[in-house]
Amino acid sequence: MSRTSALWHLQTIDQELDDKTHRARQVDDALANDPKVSAARAALEADRKKLAEARGALRDRELDAAGLDAKIKELENRLYDGRVSNPKELDGLEKDAQMHKRRRSEMDDALLALMDSADQAQRRAEEQAQSLRKIEEARAGDVERLTHEKESLAKRLDELAAQREQARAALDADALRQYDYLRRTKAGRAVAQVKSESCSVCGVAVATGLLHRVRAGDEIVVCSSCDRILA
Ligand SMILES: [Zn+2]
Repeated sequence: MSRTSALWHLQTIDQELDDKTHRARQVDDALANDPKVSAARAALEADRKKLAEARGALRDRELDAAGLDAKIKELENRLYDGRVSNPKELDGLEKDAQMHKRRRSEMDDALLALMDSADQAQRRAEEQAQSLRKIEEARAGDVERLTHEKESLAKRLDELAAQREQARAALDADALRQYDYLRRTKAGRAVAQVKSESCSVCGVAVATGLLHRVRAGDEIVVCSSCDRILA
């Protein structure tokens, strides 16, 4: 293999290493957290909190109603058990009982509304729980696929590391120094192939004299425009 072919070969390995390393990082991120599952869990938690509040409000009102019922019963007992005979006092008790009964019947509407809210909150929480289950099921499939991809990426990265070592061993120190410098400064592309007598990266034509030297392959010839090693 000529010197420039060896450099080109090294660059194809390095580029695949970059791509696969980047992808491996994305896969790790995707495995570490899933925004859809987190969002669905947070939504369910919020729905359950609303349900607990609705049930709490209903319970409070039911206790108020039970208190009123007891009070009404007590007033009626006093009205009808015959121990009170004073007409004025009986009239007072009667009015008191009427007032409590009015309040109690007003309370029924509020109780119905609260029961309705609690039912709705329960339905919403059930729907959200079901939606979370579906998202978690889909996630399980994703995790399996991503885990598989992570394994094959790791395997390929090992192969590439070994190939890279071999490719570098086949090159001299000067060529490697120039290659490494250009990889750092030219966005990872140190070597440009000549296609149709032009540099395939920047597109500038390669002088005829240079083309000859590039094709011979033993000398490092750089593009007059982008400074990349021509291959
Ligand atoms: Zn160029």
